[in-house]
Amino acid sequence: MKAHDGMYIDGAWRPAAGRDTIAVVNPADEQVIAEVPAGGAEDIDAAVRAARAALPAWAATAPAERAARIAALRDVLVARKDEIAETVTAELGAPLPFSQAVHAGVPILVAGSYAGLAASYAFEEKVGNSTVYAEPVGVVGAITPWNYPLHQIVAKVAPALAAGCTIVLKPAEDTPLTAQLFAEAVHEAGVPAGVFNLVTGLGPVAGQALAEHEGVDLVSFTGSTAVGRKIGATAGAAVKRVALELGGKSANVILPSADLAKAVGVGVANVMGNSGQTCSAWTRMLVHTSQYDEAVALAAEAAAKYGDRIGPLVNAKQHARVRGYIEKGVAEGARLVAGGPEAPREQGYFVSPTVFADVTPEMTVAQEEIFGPVVSLIRYEDGDDALRIANGTVYGLAGAVWAGDEAEAVAFARRMDTGQVDINGGRFNPLAPFGGYKQSGVGRELGSHGLAEYLQTKSLQF
Ligand code: NAP
Ligand code: MG
Repeated sequence: MKAHDGMYIDGAWRPAAGRDTIAVVNPADEQVIAEVPAGGAEDIDAAVRAARAALPAWAATAPAERAARIAALRDVLVARKDEIAETVTAELGAPLPFSQAVHAGVPILVAGSYAGLAASYAFEEKVGNSTVYAEPVGVVGAITPWNYPLHQIVAKVAPALAAGCTIVLKPAEDTPLTAQLFAEAVHEAGVPAGVFNLVTGLGPVAGQALAEHEGVDLVSFTGSTAVGRKIGATAGAAVKRVALELGGKSANVILPSADLAKAVGVGVANVMGNSGQTCSAWTRMLVHTSQYDEAVALAAEAAAKYGDRIGPLVNAKQHARVRGYIEKGVAEGARLVAGGPEAPREQGYFVSPTVFADVTPEMTVAQEEIFGPVVSLIRYEDGDDALRIANGTVYGLAGAVWAGDEAEAVAFARRMDTGQVDINGGRFNPLAPFGGYKQSGVGRELGSHGLAEYLQTKSLQF
């Protein structure tokens, strides 16, 4: 695979300060496909200085000009869609059709939505005798994970550009090639030098240096709750803004009036897509006791059908971790009805689509984020019981409710402690705010709410 041996800083690819590198591995066959530089504090400092120098001019551009650059960026992503999909498949392992539809397709939608929002957003508002201006927060430090490598970059960079912020991105070490491709796209789109900068590197080195840098005004992080906690503490101590998009353990609540077969089928597919490496996946399926056995049979069948269409997990560590969780589920008394901890292939970090029945709400597999193709079926007695179980984790990122009529599903969804709920299989909306209640995070991404994260207000009184 094509890789740059430098950092994209101030509009050009420049050599890294040090000599350390990161080997990029294809998780489907465990082969090294490229090497990229592992940046450190010096590279981060150079990137933050470039972003700071570019800030006044970019912040002062008319929203229509920023909208035009984001639209151009979207067009480059469209033109390079196949290359994006192939790159994500090579370094993340997602099956190519999924990479094309989701890993390349969704960022195009999101970039398009911010081209529109940059042009239409009310950056100025009259409130009584005041004029309130929405101004850019400043220099953004963006730290992103590997599971939706381009989406998570675009969900930060597009609104930051729309707001008039400048950016330093530290992408996940497992998926730096997608990030390099994105930097090329930003360049091709004619975004001025220094507005967007990329430093590849390791989390505890480059990521930490970025989060701690005094020249960064806002840290926007997506990843694990453990690292998010640390970044939140660092940002708090420095009194800088922080947005955290963290883990989830979302509930798929199937009420007795629902179309059971559809709810179970869509629910299993929701977890298996991207091999279960989705923070908002509905990993707990809640079924009324009267329908429980039927749901278990349907889920086992759906998982078995998934079979070979599932991609590998991203790396050896995640492979070991997910298989460890499956073993723990068995040890704690859950019943395997599909899949299991054995690796289905000799090569690659594969795990079979796995379904657990007889899961109780306190079990580890019902409480902790597994981040693999594992769904747990939990039985409930009545609506209050279902709600107690649905809300009974430290997380609150997403969820689903299925019922015979929409009003019944909505009434239940309104009682859930979570940031986003799909009603009877509702479709993805790139304008809907996405983010967590409780320990799933702080702040929102996407749409106008996502844009507001990159703005601060100034009021003038007359
Ligand atoms: P992670 O360590 O939180 O990684 C997210 C990003 O933070 C990466 O760019 C990472 O760099 C960086 N990072 C790591 N340590 C850092 C530090 N001390 N300071 C600043 N940045 C730092 O997540 P992971 O290790 O890849 O995955 C572990 C678990 O996190 C998964 O099993 C899953 O449960 C959860 N996760 C959640 C999401 C989500 O979307 N909510 C996404 C990914 C993972 P490196 O790539 O070099 O580590
Ligand atoms: Mg990590």
